[in-house]
Amino acid sequence: MQIDEDPSWQDPIIDYLVNENLPEDKSEARKIKQKAARYYMKGGMLIRRSYSGPHLTCIKYPQMLEVLCNIHDDECGNHAGGRSLAQKALSIGYFWPTMRQDSTEYARRCDRCQRYKPVPGLPAEEYHPQNSPWPFMQWAIDLVGPMPTAPANKEMMIVATDYFTKWIEVEALSSTKEADVERFIWKNIICKFGCLQLIVTNNGTQFVGRQITAFFANYGIKQHLSTPRYPQGNGQAEASNKIVLDCLKKRLEGAEGKWVGELPGVLWAYRTTKRRSTGETPFSLAYGTEAIIPPHITVPSMSIEVGNLDQNYKQMKVNLDLLEEEREKAIVRVAAYQQQLTSYYYKKAQIRQFQPRGLMLRKTFITAPPRQGLKKMKPNWEGPYVVSRSGGRGSYTLDTLEGKEIPRQWNAHHLRRYYP
Ligand SMILES: [Zn+2]
Repeated sequence: MQIDEDPSWQDPIIDYLVNENLPEDKSEARKIKQKAARYYMKGGMLIRRSYSGPHLTCIKYPQMLEVLCNIHDDECGNHAGGRSLAQKALSIGYFWPTMRQDSTEYARRCDRCQRYKPVPGLPAEEYHPQNSPWPFMQWAIDLVGPMPTAPANKEMMIVATDYFTKWIEVEALSSTKEADVERFIWKNIICKFGCLQLIVTNNGTQFVGRQITAFFANYGIKQHLSTPRYPQGNGQAEASNKIVLDCLKKRLEGAEGKWVGELPGVLWAYRTTKRRSTGETPFSLAYGTEAIIPPHITVPSMSIEVGNLDQNYKQMKVNLDLLEEEREKAIVRVAAYQQQLTSYYYKKAQIRQFQPRGLMLRKTFITAPPRQGLKKMKPNWEGPYVVSRSGGRGSYTLDTLEGKEIPRQWNAHHLRRYYP
């Protein structure tokens, strides 16, 4: 049995499993024995039995960094935050004892994540007082743009979100007439998910014109309008637009014209990431099973290796049996989440305190709020700057990294810490 030169968390467990060696210290020995019951060796790899789902391949430094980097930065990653990053690593079949903490740390230090972090004030995740009782019955739909012009003059995005599963459908458009919206709803919603009962839109001409109204009537689709006086009525669409735009921004630094090509990857990552509101991935709520994520990862993982068609088929049937139960559970979680959000909204914003000489990012849009589309492709935060002194009442003076003072004071709400 070969054990790597570098000491790792796996060594005592492997030493016990393979050679039945235990540490001299009695309580230490008992701990190892207890721990080891959850593990076994296969093909020279340490495997952890998981409570549910596939058994997990145990990895250590530096493979775990490789895995985190792949999941976070790559095509399927979308710069997932700590919690969903760890969940993804688990779901593709990896384990190490500090994965949650390492994931959080990894995401916190990512330069792009820091620069494109949503501006505080609104929760980054979906806030939606309206609920849909069952999947694919109620959709929000909206247009986003103008985006940077892409091939074929595509500079608008149409985004549809199912209220229940949070499933998103997106397409890049070069024109946004009623016929385009109609074609999108037919192809991306009705043909894939069946006829919807209710659609929530704003009162843009392409959503309320004669042709589209006739189309809705023909399919028995009811329409709710979000009025300009109450734009939060379409909060679901706003939230989804924000998520898609934020993901695109993180991926496209310096290559904005490529956003159309990036859309499928953004959608894939979104659909396979747990939403905080439902506690599930849109994919699992839609299909009753988690997607196998193509990891572009060189470290082999059990969950894919053991994939045997027959077994997968059986497992899928079990999952489908459980799907209804999962969806019922999601309803309960959504209700609890909404209660949490409501109290979040009424909580007063905390005044943050920053230390002199600390590194800071400054909000990009302080004077003019960002418009939708093109401007949104810019980072939300710029810097880093250095705090030179506190002006009291939560205001600060900043220096550039070269030590030049920036004329004017900045409120703490416009600043956030930068982790180099
Ligand atoms: Zn990142």
